[in-house]
Amino acid sequence: AAPAKAEKVLRVGTNPTFAPFEFQAKGSNDLTGFDIDLAKALGKQMGYKVELVNLGFDGLIPALSTGNIDLAVSGMSITEERKNAVDFCDPYYTSGLIVLVRPDETNIKGINDLVGKRIGAQIGTTGATKASSVKGADVKQYNNANEPFIELDNKGVDAVINDQPVVAYYLVNGGKGKMVGDIMEAEYYGIAAKKGNKALVKQVNEALAALKKNGEYDKIYKKWFGA
Ligand code: GLN
Repeated sequence: AAPAKAEKVLRVGTNPTFAPFEFQAKGSNDLTGFDIDLAKALGKQMGYKVELVNLGFDGLIPALSTGNIDLAVSGMSITEERKNAVDFCDPYYTSGLIVLVRPDETNIKGINDLVGKRIGAQIGTTGATKASSVKGADVKQYNNANEPFIELDNKGVDAVINDQPVVAYYLVNGGKGKMVGDIMEAEYYGIAAKKGNKALVKQVNEALAALKKNGEYDKIYKKWFGA
């Protein structure tokens, strides 16, 4: 008999420290989250088996460039700088940065009060870039997105800058702190592909449009963010 046709594999890189988008479910090695469900649904729609690859956030773009992964699905904001290195699919989620401080903080009411303060952020993120733009700030960068929260608790930093939906999820799930100031300018998450892989970008965009049309995207959205 003819050998079974091998299923096509789509290697999807992600940094699973970013709940509710990608994280490790408690007591399990399995990755879960909005992006994970979306990546699996897109893979299915495109006729691929999805293989998740756990990487540092700052390792995602290099892994795309070397061809170690096909796509990065990791709450990655579409930025002009990143567009020089990768190609983005259509935006799939609107986000924005926020400042988190300790519950008893009274002096810091927003980003303008961070001059000269110690700010924690994850390496390679838009939060780290924003923190670095604050005058005289001592920016401490961490490998994963949870370490800055722990450091805030431990008084190793005075504030954290991270994506608002991630900070909100942290607080709802028992994390300590309070958000101050407004959500900063809108950032749009996009799935990234190797620069020049127009065919894959087109495939993903078509699959994403199909999931939006058939209600699957809404189902996944409701599961993680409510109505
Ligand atoms: N959206 C932010 C960025 O693109 C943070 C992403 C993340 O930490 N996963 O830099």
